[in-house]
Amino acid sequence: MPNDPPLIIAHRGASGYLPEHTLEAKALAYGMGADYLEQDVVVTRDDQLIVLHDIYLDRVTDVAERFPDRHRADGRFYVRDFELEEIRSLRVWERLNSKGDAVEFPNRYPARSGNFRIASFEEELEFIAGLNRSSGRSVGIYPEIKRPAWHQDDGVDMSPKLLEILDRFGYRESSDPVFLQCFDARELQRLRHELGCKLRLIQLVGENDWQESDTDYDQLRTGEGLAQVAKTADGIGPGLWQLYSLAEIDGQPVSTGLVSQAHSHGLAVHPYTFRADQLPPGFETFEAAVQWFVETLGIDGLFTDFPDKAFRVFASHSS
Ligand code: CA
Repeated sequence: MPNDPPLIIAHRGASGYLPEHTLEAKALAYGMGADYLEQDVVVTRDDQLIVLHDIYLDRVTDVAERFPDRHRADGRFYVRDFELEEIRSLRVWERLNSKGDAVEFPNRYPARSGNFRIASFEEELEFIAGLNRSSGRSVGIYPEIKRPAWHQDDGVDMSPKLLEILDRFGYRESSDPVFLQCFDARELQRLRHELGCKLRLIQLVGENDWQESDTDYDQLRTGEGLAQVAKTADGIGPGLWQLYSLAEIDGQPVSTGLVSQAHSHGLAVHPYTFRADQLPPGFETFEAAVQWFVETLGIDGLFTDFPDKAFRVFASHSS
């Protein structure tokens, strides 16, 4: 298995400490030693790319107070219904739970507080380029194309726009410090085989009942499915739960074989999400979980809300 320490990917920034996807959360992750900073990308009404996890604004901003009438029939406030300038004026908060009556993670940054803003994709790339210049480091980016088919139905083709911005910032070749990720297998195929994208691509692996895309994730996890993925992508981003189960006899974690199978097809494995306040079942501590996935399964990178804690696991092992 690979001997290099796995890549530490700051999931929505150092989102365990500061509201997700704010530049403050990215700066903190940068300072904590993350190798890559994640950007989820969605598109505004005026076709601008912004960094936000949901296609809605309501779980992480004050949009419902500022623009109470601007929701759709389902009650949600869609990014696609707001201009970039309107979105810039919103305050970003710690993520609320699905009911909206409390924060999703009770021990994180206080609810509904702080003066944080949403950044455009270009602003965030400029910010990271600036930090790379002033620090002399080369921290990478890890953009996710969110719901490309949904965006397409809503009238915008986001991938070419994203590639154009990446090109402008010098991200062009497979050797550049960028991984491009998407749940939608067809979009990845299109990026690679129609849009001429040479960047490293990561196929995210979800569950079919999420209805995130029409990709069949059960099929994708088979040998045949992985062989197909390997024709397009450089790696997979599975959920932690897809990589192990707990033995009935002693409750110990046992590999599902997905990591070694992916490796046999030449695919890197970057699972999501290591959280100190939401441990994967069967593990007592964050450190024990990270250590097991790295040493026993041989994962190549990991998405974490707590890049400092992940970094410390390897720092103590490599010294
Ligand atoms: Ca993501």
